Amino acid sequence: MINLALIAPPGGGKGTQAEKITRTLNIPHISTGDIFRSIVKGEYAGSFPVSEILNYMNRGLLVPDDIVVKITLERLGQDDCENGFLLDGFPRTLNQAEMFDKLSSNKRLNYVILIDVEEESLIKRLTGRRSCPKCGRIYNIYFSPPLKEGLCDEDGEGLVIRNDDKEETVRKRLEVYKTDTKPLVDYYKKQNILAKVDGNKFVDEVFKQIMEVLKA
Ligand code: AMP
Repeated sequence: MINLALIAPPGGGKGTQAEKITRTLNIPHISTGDIFRSIVKGEYAGSFPVSEILNYMNRGLLVPDDIVVKITLERLGQDDCENGFLLDGFPRTLNQAEMFDKLSSNKRLNYVILIDVEEESLIKRLTGRRSCPKCGRIYNIYFSPPLKEGLCDEDGEGLVIRNDDKEETVRKRLEVYKTDTKPLVDYYKKQNILAKVDGNKFVDEVFKQIMEVLKA
């Protein structure tokens, strides 16, 4: 059984890998960010302190650990998690990891995979991102630029940069990631369940490394 948590920096390709892993292994992809977004939209069954959650999310802050742990454990109690699961976005703090270990009984993690990507490459992936406000197509000025600089290939609309992809914000997000993740990584290293894969490679190569870890 594979009870897996994926850890990766912003822009580290976590979403892409999570999708490939869950499709291949046929296990549910549990993203706490997605769960919170559906709770605040009223699309998630259960009783939750919605306005409190919204208040944290709107300020870009982490939702308190006890709420996150409770919601994650509830989700893992559903039938589709009986043969394993992939956690995306949880745990985010050492305290969440410790609380989860105490309470998770048969849902304990047996794999934690860290997708390691060089900082300069992350900065290019994030600050190079441009999107078309009309059709939503995403480009990257370094890796997948539009044919004409600054304009969408589909409809000629001027491309825009998201506020949180601006260089100063990106550097801040990476700092926060490093501070929060280091203790988590150390914690799982001590438990001997941490594997590091080289996330600087192409998507399929990163995926291959992950599958090798999971097969071992
Ligand atoms: P994400 O899409 O993973 O960036 O999550 C969106 C928002 O949901 C975050 O900014 C937090 O407010 C909340 N959130 C998601 N996962 C967690 C977590 N493990 N701990 C605390 N807050 C979380």
